[in-house]
Amino acid sequence: MPRPARGREPVGPGTALVGLPGIGPARARALADAGLATVLDLLLELPARHEDRARFARVADLVAGGPPLTLFGTITAARLVRTRRRGFSIYEATLEDESGSVGLVFYSQPWLARWLTPGARAFVHGRAVEKRQLVLESPHVEAEPEEPGDAALSVGRVVPIYRPQPGLPPRLRRRLVARALEEAAPKLPDRLRPRDADGLGLPSLLDALREAHFPGSAGGPGDPSLFRDRSSRHLRRLAFEELLELQVALARRRRERAARPAPRIEADSATRRSLAAMLPFPLTAAQKQAIREIGADLRSGHPMARLLQGDVGSGKTIVAVLSAVLAARRGFQTAFMAPTTILAEQHAETVHRLLAGTGVTAALLTARVTGRPRAALLEALAEGEIGLLVGTHALLEKPVAFRRLGLVVVDEQHRFGVAQRAALPARASARHEHPHVLVLSATPIPRSLALALHGDLDVSTLDEKPPGRTPVVTSVLDEDGREEAYRRLAADVGAGGRAYVVVPLVEESETIEARSVASWTEEVARRLPGRRVGALHGKMRAEARETAMRRFAAGEIDVLVATTVVEVGIDVPEASFLLVENAERFGLAQLHQLRGRVGRGSRASTCILLSGSGASPDALARLTVLARTDDGFAVAEEDLRRRGPGEALGTRQSGLPDLRIADPLADGDLLGEAKELAVRLAADGATAPFEERLILRSSERS
Ligand code: ADP
Ligand code: MG
Repeated sequence: MPRPARGREPVGPGTALVGLPGIGPARARALADAGLATVLDLLLELPARHEDRARFARVADLVAGGPPLTLFGTITAARLVRTRRRGFSIYEATLEDESGSVGLVFYSQPWLARWLTPGARAFVHGRAVEKRQLVLESPHVEAEPEEPGDAALSVGRVVPIYRPQPGLPPRLRRRLVARALEEAAPKLPDRLRPRDADGLGLPSLLDALREAHFPGSAGGPGDPSLFRDRSSRHLRRLAFEELLELQVALARRRRERAARPAPRIEADSATRRSLAAMLPFPLTAAQKQAIREIGADLRSGHPMARLLQGDVGSGKTIVAVLSAVLAARRGFQTAFMAPTTILAEQHAETVHRLLAGTGVTAALLTARVTGRPRAALLEALAEGEIGLLVGTHALLEKPVAFRRLGLVVVDEQHRFGVAQRAALPARASARHEHPHVLVLSATPIPRSLALALHGDLDVSTLDEKPPGRTPVVTSVLDEDGREEAYRRLAADVGAGGRAYVVVPLVEESETIEARSVASWTEEVARRLPGRRVGALHGKMRAEARETAMRRFAAGEIDVLVATTVVEVGIDVPEASFLLVENAERFGLAQLHQLRGRVGRGSRASTCILLSGSGASPDALARLTVLARTDDGFAVAEEDLRRRGPGEALGTRQSGLPDLRIADPLADGDLLGEAKELAVRLAADGATAPFEERLILRSSERS
């Protein structure tokens, strides 16, 4: 519980804001709801930007469409215009300085009438637009009164501008932050040992916080572009703090896991020979390397936690199945978990095919397996008769009893980032041994980033594809290109190819899904007279789905109109054409995954991304990334850059805190340093100061 402040006693990081000058109970409640309950919260929320109020621009400097400028002048006229719309008002004012005057227009800020009145001296920051004359108009304008009492904080210097917070006027906030920096910030533990900070050329936490709020306070002129220029040492120190906290948490998890026992699974030479003989083709060098890495983990006596990442089609499944066979030969069972039932069914088929003749028994357990067959299966599992159980993630959520679970394979497909969650399965085998865990990801990210963000997982990367793949030529067309797209599709099918048409779902409802796929199918059939067109979607009964896939694979259907159920696992080498309708509605990684459905055989393959009429220029630009590259690493990196790591990597879902200051792409060097230091701190047992979250806000606060 935060302590309330009493009298003029100095505040500490844990002091509640309520009771501080200007913060009554009602205000405090509103602030607490917005995540600002204590003095520490105030310190940790950095300004959105800074304004250089040491030098002002003049009204005469304003240019329509030019950069935002800070002005200082006198209000000469003002009026509140009420409108018919409830809650909407317009406040107009005129600001004058020695060079001229300019109109200000504020929407729905009636409270400005309390002070922005003729005679008031005001700071105004904004960007000019041309109306009947030049004006500064919301949302691109902010105003703040001059008041004699706080001149030192709000004028004559570089001033922090915080994200607008109802209930906390800017000047009050600056006063509170200044007091917090003076009285509370020195009491924060500086968790970076001085020699480590020196080694990295980073300032102290205190200096970094002071400078981030009030540039120039640590001496020097103060840099108003602190947040635009990532090279600032002070900002880097805060980013580092954040990354280090994350890395320490990951390093701790990793050490905890490494301390537990796990089954020792060692391959003898006979096993190794029989593994090689299982496959109809030689492994790629990358696959061999991954298997060596996995083999070393499996015999270490400690739980493996490894991410196997590789582009779609790089052969991850085979690597996982070989690992399972190895475990089975030593009497250990494997749970192989897929994100969806359909994918589990597909994996089960692949696995059955690969295991034929190995003596290892595989089974499929999904929600569709019920009644007597389910009971029989569970019994066989408990008896240890099943070596490899394929299912959905629900296998671990509602744990089923294995006799000797040795390995858990988690297929995450393109939902990257959620891997961490999988690294600690809910239940080990009866002997309290922790199973080995292998996570498969089809959205590879740069190795350094993978190591950093999945810091508690080891990473194996399949950076090469099996030979004999033909590159997929991808083009992006807009609505006007639809005729051409279908003409090209018809030509390819006419020449003996097979095509997928992927359609987006409007809603996640069973009837709507079926209906929308049916009407798409009609539409496609109408465009392709004489061609056999089939449909495939997630809400079809299993038998109907299997029939559709089998007929497509056998060439009895030329064109398969499908939802994204085809994105995973479907392997029809003759398919050579993929057309995606409303491609702008899909994520880049997902489209790349879809594209992996073609280019699997010897036919030259085509992918056309067709955007709907409503697609924004931005969305189109995003799609062209796929036309430029066929490399999953490049696609994932671009996705990261565009969506930001929080969104793209799903760190939110993984329970890892959001990074608020650091940017793992831009701050790659810091990331590496943070990881290294975290490992050293963990080895020295010096991670205790990190028990308390400082820079990172935990995600439980929404
Ligand atoms: P991923 O899971 O990485 O997308 P898969 O394991 O499903 O890839 O493999 C894709 C296809 O390539 C499958 O048809 C598989 O049989 C085949 N394959 C895997 N490894 C090799 C290899 N070394 N040589 C030839 N084909 C391979
Ligand atoms: Mg796969």
